[in-house]
Amino acid sequence: MSAGEPAVGRVERRPADDARRGWRYWRLTPEPRLQSLSQRGFTWEPGRAFVGRCAGAGPAGHDAPDPGCACGVHASTDMATLHADALCLAPGPLVVGEVDLWGRVVVDDHGYRGEYAYPCRLDVVEETVAGVVSLAEAVDGLAGYGVVVGTTPLVDAVGPASATIMRYLAMSGPSLPSER
Ligand SMILES: [Zn+2]
Repeated sequence: MSAGEPAVGRVERRPADDARRGWRYWRLTPEPRLQSLSQRGFTWEPGRAFVGRCAGAGPAGHDAPDPGCACGVHASTDMATLHADALCLAPGPLVVGEVDLWGRVVVDDHGYRGEYAYPCRLDVVEETVAGVVSLAEAVDGLAGYGVVVGTTPLVDAVGPASATIMRYLAMSGPSLPSER
């Protein structure tokens, strides 16, 4: 490959030892486990590759990821790109980290969509666990994944714009009146 931006929607096949490395968010469950932020909330089991699935929005009968679909395990190319995804994050315990993607990998304009995935570094987002679990418990609880686990302030994890919104939502509490 020559230097420069990767082509949009290009499909690669990569072995696990030459994975694409990207950045993504996870929800932290009470167990604690990593959970995908998608509505289906798939759990990532420690020590096992997470397998991307298709929610069925693209061409019928394909394996994830498909270049003509949105499926596969998503990761952003860098933190700055990931911060754009943070605008739709809901309040609650959050983890940010690096992830390896391998098998079939689609290279899109802002990141990657992989067939198989496993985290390679995790940071518990400090402010998001407050009142739910202690930071130390969250970090210890993720040790089972066998990767480096640290902590990071909200503003570094999501960027200043989203941090302001999320702090506001957290202060508003879960009983915020909803529109009908
Ligand atoms: Zn699909």
